[in-house]
Amino acid sequence: MPRPLDARALAALAANPGCRRRALLDGAGVDKGALAEALGSPSAAFGQSQFAIARGNTFESRVKSDGGTELLRLLHEHTGGEAPKDAAVPDLAAAGPEGRAARTALALREATAAGGWTLLDHPMLALEVAGSPAYLEPDAVVVAPDGRWTVVEIKSFPMIDAAADPSKVGAAARQAAVYVLALERVAGLLGDTPGPADRVAHSVLLVCPKDFSNLPTASLVDVRKQLSVTRRQLARLTRIEEIADALAPGASFALDRPAPELTETVESVPAAYAPECLAACELAFHCRDRARAVDAVTALGRGLRAELGGLGGLGGLGGLGGLTSVGAVLDAARGRAGDPSDPAVAALRRAAALRAEALEGAAAGGAVCR
Ligand code: SF4
Repeated sequence: MPRPLDARALAALAANPGCRRRALLDGAGVDKGALAEALGSPSAAFGQSQFAIARGNTFESRVKSDGGTELLRLLHEHTGGEAPKDAAVPDLAAAGPEGRAARTALALREATAAGGWTLLDHPMLALEVAGSPAYLEPDAVVVAPDGRWTVVEIKSFPMIDAAADPSKVGAAARQAAVYVLALERVAGLLGDTPGPADRVAHSVLLVCPKDFSNLPTASLVDVRKQLSVTRRQLARLTRIEEIADALAPGASFALDRPAPELTETVESVPAAYAPECLAACELAFHCRDRARAVDAVTALGRGLRAELGGLGGLGGLGGLGGLTSVGAVLDAARGRAGDPSDPAVAALRRAAALRAEALEGAAAGGAVCR
């Protein structure tokens, strides 16, 4: 049975927009963890331990206790406007995700019309992805008296001196951007004014434990960049047929197929491995082994990949044309390969010459000191 897409999977897609392999597998609903095992690689384990999940749940309950008084105070502290009081917390229970999504849409409409503060605790949002609905459940959505809808993400990693681990904030922002996108769809269906982009706030409230305590603190995180990346990725997902067209006729990801056949099919879809995959994709160990086996420059990280792509002027993966392996890049830099009229090769040689000059200077300086 195909695996439904959730916010984490959609956010991970946005984190690695160049990976056609992940786009195809997620679009087809393939269980990548099981696929990794079938390929003979361990499934990359990520996510939280049971202890961390329990601690996170306790913190979330604390933040939302007393009708969400503290949560609304934190939001008001960052956004201003009318002071929160007597917030409504509608019951969003309904049968199945479809029913819960419909109930949430109704609650959003009623809350907006009522004009007060409303806290939607674990609403359900539907977002059409590659032709089928994905159901997403943010921690909370707050409707303010001015009709603005704000996504709230509650995380258990600490905010120390008002700053949290940037990689964790980045992951939370990508996830929240998916919720904002789904909320804009609901706002679009309401068909009222202002339009969806003005109705839904593009800054989300990130709530975390303050320093090393259990007290909540918050900051507003601007997710406009993540929103546009996610939009672009989802638009690409709808063209998954194009990626699938490149597969050999009869190719299949059925897990009971012999490992060599399955490997061949997986390898026929281009990937964009980067070390960041280890924290976001179950196929990371498999893709890392393959990237290392061909000495791929991409395995050295996205920063380097972007810089090399920038040199080649083609942006990102494969931007250096034939210079996709570390060995080929070094040969080009040392003048052993590559066309000197290629701007990428010229830039690499310039960099190598500057490095040699700097090393010579350092050696000469050392001789004088002695
Ligand atoms: S681990 Fe492989 S399939 Fe997953 S995102 Fe990275 S390159 Fe793509």
